[in-house]
Amino acid sequence: AKAHGKNCYQVFETRMHEQLLDRLDQESRLREAVHRGELRLHLQPVVDVTTRELRGVEALVRWEDPERGLQPPGAFIPLAEETGLITEIDRWMMIEACRTVREWQESSPETAPHWVSVNLSAANLEVPDLTDRVAYALAGTGLAPECLVLELTETVLMRDIAVTAGRLEEMRELGVRIAIDDFGTGYSSLGYLRDIPVDVLKVDRSFITGLVGHQRQQELVRAILQLGHTLGLKVVVEGIETEDQLDLLITLGCRFAQGYFLGRPEPVASLRSRLATVPAP
Ligand code: C2E
Ligand code: CA
Ligand code: CA
Ligand code: CA
Repeated sequence: AKAHGKNCYQVFETRMHEQLLDRLDQESRLREAVHRGELRLHLQPVVDVTTRELRGVEALVRWEDPERGLQPPGAFIPLAEETGLITEIDRWMMIEACRTVREWQESSPETAPHWVSVNLSAANLEVPDLTDRVAYALAGTGLAPECLVLELTETVLMRDIAVTAGRLEEMRELGVRIAIDDFGTGYSSLGYLRDIPVDVLKVDRSFITGLVGHQRQQELVRAILQLGHTLGLKVVVEGIETEDQLDLLITLGCRFAQGYFLGRPEPVASLRSRLATVPAP
């Protein structure tokens, strides 16, 4: 029994050791990925539903891992958040997004998006020079501040409202806009809408999934749209996958939407060539 117990322990220890090494390996590969230029910027259209025209884009990161191919954020953002690497990734994405959209606006103003939004994980709010980073991205690329939207999730914003409100106010003084991402999923009070300076609400995809055929869901979305519009905010509904959902949203008062039905995230070159060849409806 004793020998057996020892054996189990050794197996356990070896497995722990392997997992630890694996994690360290992953971490260093991710760290190198940032410096080796293996991150990729993908853009997903945000469309004006009344005209079906592109109005904005959301910047979504991908990792072109030479060993495993193109990785979605779900495969590496959690590790990046645990290790603090996320602030480097978000900094890179912000500059890349600003540069890309500025170039697009310069070369084809008629098809270029009016704004680009970037995602900021919680850790960014603890970066002392965050406002300088944003200012640097704008100054370095020449993108107009009102064309940049910073997306933060409800849960991030709620963590310490007083501190967060101050930081956001600082960034808004630069002229950039603030969006609440995944709006409605935080199970929080709406009090922060009073205290936090925001410009855009992004209604979470979970509100859209069961929309068609469900009266209550529809009234809820209608109410969110009205609340946002009454407060003078832009409201973007996420996760539109079907034409039925889109038609319904229009009747509920939706103006801006994003989702696979309207366009998947893709590299800027393919998005631009698609927009150039597909005639406007
Ligand atoms: P998110 O900010 O809520 O971004 C929207 C996600 O929903 C994207 O997934 C997008 O591809 C997906 N999506 C868009 N339309 C549809 C649809 O119609 N149906 C479905 N099922 N999904 C749709 P993605 O690109 O895998 O990103 C996942 C999450 O990773 C993002 O969620 C965001 O939280 C995070 N993320 C992505 N890029 C960055 C980044 O540069 N920095 C940080 N900090 N987080 C990022
Ligand atoms: Ca987002
Ligand atoms: Ca979202
Ligand atoms: Ca999300």
